[in-house]
Amino acid sequence: MAKKISRRNFFNQSFGFGAGALFFNKLPVFKASPSGRTPMMIVAHTNETGKKASETGWKILADGGSALDAVEKTANIIELDAEGMSVGYGGLPNEDGVVQLDASIMDGKTYSAGSVACIENIKTPCSVARVVMERTDHVMLVGKDALEFAKTWGFEENNLLTEKARKIWVQWRERVSDRDDWGPPEHLKKKKNEEAGSNNDFDFDRPAGTTNVLAIDKNGDIAGVTTTSGLAFKIPGRVGDSPIIGAGLYVDNEIGAAAATGRGEDVIKSCASYYMVMRMKEDRTPQQACDDAVNMIAAKYKAINSDFLPGETFRAINKKGECGCARMRSDQKAVMSLINEGGYQLYEGKLHFYRERRRR
Ligand code: ASP
Repeated sequence: MAKKISRRNFFNQSFGFGAGALFFNKLPVFKASPSGRTPMMIVAHTNETGKKASETGWKILADGGSALDAVEKTANIIELDAEGMSVGYGGLPNEDGVVQLDASIMDGKTYSAGSVACIENIKTPCSVARVVMERTDHVMLVGKDALEFAKTWGFEENNLLTEKARKIWVQWRERVSDRDDWGPPEHLKKKKNEEAGSNNDFDFDRPAGTTNVLAIDKNGDIAGVTTTSGLAFKIPGRVGDSPIIGAGLYVDNEIGAAAATGRGEDVIKSCASYYMVMRMKEDRTPQQACDDAVNMIAAKYKAINSDFLPGETFRAINKKGECGCARMRSDQKAVMSLINEGGYQLYEGKLHFYRERRRR
């Protein structure tokens, strides 16, 4: 007989959150902002791949390489990790089972940016975004034309849907509704529900995950990348915040850089990354700028009297090499990788407990 699992357990098992937590426990964690040092880099991912990626980027920075090269090569490692299910190759697909990726890159030194949205079949979308930035007069290319552009520049086409991601998608497709024709035939439908171990309400948080990479090099130049497979099982064609300059990523060489993960719809509406950089321009620390972004979005939802609270995490660095991180909900830690001359550490930012407060 099939083992019963709840939907939440199903997703926890499928996405391997447990493994990440184990890794997290082994490392020293900064509770407060370490004094600024440059060069430096922050990476949203904190698992083994995030650490490996951070160390790769750090080598580039320590050798005197550019922040732009460092953020791209760091993000590539996370994009190419088949086990990571929220970025690049191996990412969870849209509701039709197709992996569509969003990515952006911004170079503070040259005040230039590039991005791709809804691109299929390319494992390293942030590198395509870099070519858009450096070899065209545009900022953003989308969909099939972005793929054609990538092929023109020699990027290899690949199927991005791994077996692991495909199985999760099929299971999601079968369980998402009992009012369609997916799953066992009608006379066995009861069995389908029992196997799912749940009733009809599909109560998990939509799995997502994106990475942000922000860096300052030895010359003091700043660059950033945000790259993602976006919200799992999204409507085909949906574009999140990650490829939108000012939303999922923003860099200003005189001030700092900021980036976001989480529910892209809110990050787009609030232009959150641009907002954070502008807060830093007004002498807010990176941590305060991230907190300000959380508070701004929470205030909007409070004003419309909604119980809904999105789950964004914001990250920022300033010109001095200080950093910050804040998350709006307490369901995950506000943490990121930080690497500088002091070595690799986890930086723990601030969790804003709006959800709990509202319940009281
Ligand atoms: N921000 C991404 C998006 O909305 C998803 C995520 O970061 O989890 O596409």
